[in-house]
Amino acid sequence: MKHSIKELENIATVVRRDIVRMVHGCQSGHPGGSLGCTDFMTALYFDVMNHNPEFKMDGKGEDVFFLSNGHISPVWYSVLARSGYFPVKELATFRKLNSRLQGHPTTHEKLPGIRVASGSLGQGLSVAIGMAIAKKMDNESNLVFALLGDGELQEGQNWEAAMFAPHNSVDNLICTIDYNGQQIDGPTERVLSLGNLEEKFKSFGWHVITSNGNNMDDIVKALHYAKSLAFKGKPIMNIMSTEMGYGVDFMVGSHKWHGVAPNDEQLQAALNQLTSTENDY
Ligand SMILES: [Mg+2]
Repeated sequence: MKHSIKELENIATVVRRDIVRMVHGCQSGHPGGSLGCTDFMTALYFDVMNHNPEFKMDGKGEDVFFLSNGHISPVWYSVLARSGYFPVKELATFRKLNSRLQGHPTTHEKLPGIRVASGSLGQGLSVAIGMAIAKKMDNESNLVFALLGDGELQEGQNWEAAMFAPHNSVDNLICTIDYNGQQIDGPTERVLSLGNLEEKFKSFGWHVITSNGNNMDDIVKALHYAKSLAFKGKPIMNIMSTEMGYGVDFMVGSHKWHGVAPNDEQLQAALNQLTSTENDY
């Protein structure tokens, strides 16, 4: 491991501070899903992935990550900046006019780390499969990672991709679902039930694992286990349980903070719960 679990937890706290401050700074954005996926994104960028902050668009010779649920851009921008892709102070420009840090990631601003626009939901899995196939054609041993929201699985394109990857033995792909049971309009179970995701993906031919995305030890172990399953004939699906808003007690577990910014008092209350020895941006 590149970092101890304790070190990764400390980085995750710094990232959570970034998220609430970024969303507060522009009074818009999506703190809930960002906070829920912070432990996963920290584990990915600071331990699991072999990646190069001297960014190359084609991603050749390194592991590559795609974020399908692009609205949780605050957590992605924070881990990219904190792992050296661009200056940390640029996080202060989130969602501001002429910023490279748009509300939904795009390639237009040429922000290092971003290889495709996302946030039009339901498309990330297809993109990740395409990159994974390209890496296999190039005989690379590197992996492709993707993160999907659970709500966006209601979009049909995902299920075409879910069929395609096992059929074509895309076994250098590790996809994770942020299984928080929430989406912008309420609980996924009420909006449009996903049924038994584990059984669904198994029946499509994926190797399915489950994990707790808000326990650093568990998520790190799950992702390393997932890596050990690569190149064995099947794509890998990690169904990761998280709580939306994790780390801030008044945001946790509710879809109400999906796309709402904290006011001044709420920001302070959140920061008081996220104590850190690191410097803020
Ligand atoms: Mg969700």
